[in-house]
Amino acid sequence: MIRRNFLKAGLAAGVAAIGGMAFLRQGADAAEGAFPVSRSEAEWKKLLTPDQFAVLRQEATERPFSSALNDNKKSGLYVCAGCDTPVYSSKAKFDSGTGWPSFWEPVSATAVGTTTDYKLIYPRTEVHCATCGGHLGHVFNDGPKPTGKRHCINGVAMNFKPGSTEAS
Ligand SMILES: [Zn+2]
Repeated sequence: MIRRNFLKAGLAAGVAAIGGMAFLRQGADAAEGAFPVSRSEAEWKKLLTPDQFAVLRQEATERPFSSALNDNKKSGLYVCAGCDTPVYSSKAKFDSGTGWPSFWEPVSATAVGTTTDYKLIYPRTEVHCATCGGHLGHVFNDGPKPTGKRHCINGVAMNFKPGSTEAS
């Protein structure tokens, strides 16, 4: 009985440690202040819908096939829902079959940034808006030519603007 309690306590401590690390990492991101558009958590909460906030600011992932943008085949630009900056173009969009809007490259080399995310057992490349730091999705190496990359993006993190496919 005592041993079992020890095990439980150990597990709880482990979970707490992981949670604490995630929290510290978020704090570190915010403290860097390296993004041209920077807002407090309260400001983002006011500005964004709850779903947008969960994805952009807390790195949640929307349910697959839940975004209308997944099937969107119109020409135009996909802009960050947090700061309105173009991040992807319809020119690089393809149907990955995963249920998330997918692109083989960002609209420009400087539109997005990446970090390594260890939320799952294996490391993944996290991708975010370079202007406001909002989390967009992940990048995988199983995309089509010419880049071989698959930017797997949460539709809720973007708004679509029909028309021009080039970021000005
Ligand atoms: Zn942004």
